[in-house]
Amino acid sequence: MCPYHFEPIGWVHSPYKEKFAIPRQPGLVTAAQSHIRLRSDCNREEILRGLSGFSHLWLVFVFHEALRADWKPMVRPPRLGGNQKVGVFASRSPFRPNPIGLSVVTLEDIKQVNGQWQVHIGGGDLLDQTPILDIKPYIPYADSHPDARGDYAQEAPVTLDKIEFSALASEQITHLEQKYPRLHTLITQVLSQQPEPAYHNTNACAHTAARVYGMALYDLNVRWVRQQEGLVVTEVTPLG
Ligand code: SAM
Repeated sequence: MCPYHFEPIGWVHSPYKEKFAIPRQPGLVTAAQSHIRLRSDCNREEILRGLSGFSHLWLVFVFHEALRADWKPMVRPPRLGGNQKVGVFASRSPFRPNPIGLSVVTLEDIKQVNGQWQVHIGGGDLLDQTPILDIKPYIPYADSHPDARGDYAQEAPVTLDKIEFSALASEQITHLEQKYPRLHTLITQVLSQQPEPAYHNTNACAHTAARVYGMALYDLNVRWVRQQEGLVVTEVTPLG
């Protein structure tokens, strides 16, 4: 059936252990540090030679947790509130005929750890263990178009400014930052993206009780309460 077959050249190791709360595009959560480990026959210094001269990379990857046989020609982008449809090719939805994603990330470091080459990246929007099909350098003169039209996604999503931490969560994070530096910043940046479903934040829900949410970051469960004007992180505990 398919005349093309590609093996991943590596896999991402990222703090995002589930799809919920991953930013919707790269560059929105700069504190997210990930790395790519190359597959065995690509695990060689020459394949990466020259890459460190570039500040940004394109990652081509498989939406491996969106592999559905029944993709739909129209989707509802979250940026349109989840109630307007556009053609899937006018969207960045993971659910597409070929579930292939494309993200620009910063190149932070290239290093070898215990014989394994690692490409360290910043600001990713990829789930942990995402298979990477290719890495390409970002070339500013060809890839950057500051005057481009972005229709419904012209601007970055509106962020939530009022993010507070309970005394318990602050204490837990202070302790956890010995293992996960910048955890406080990471949680703040992720939650400022308002990951809760758009329909939870409509006026219809404005007068209902505050909702409790949870997300997995690293091996941690981060819980928060969304209120009308902001949110409070209530606790950060090891995952079950
Ligand atoms: N920047 C990429 C693009 O435009 O092709 C991805 C955009 S897509 C809207 C980003 C979302 O894909 C994330 O918020 C997350 O929910 C989801 N995602 C990330 N990695 C995934 C994976 N490996 N499988 C399925 N969904 C994934």
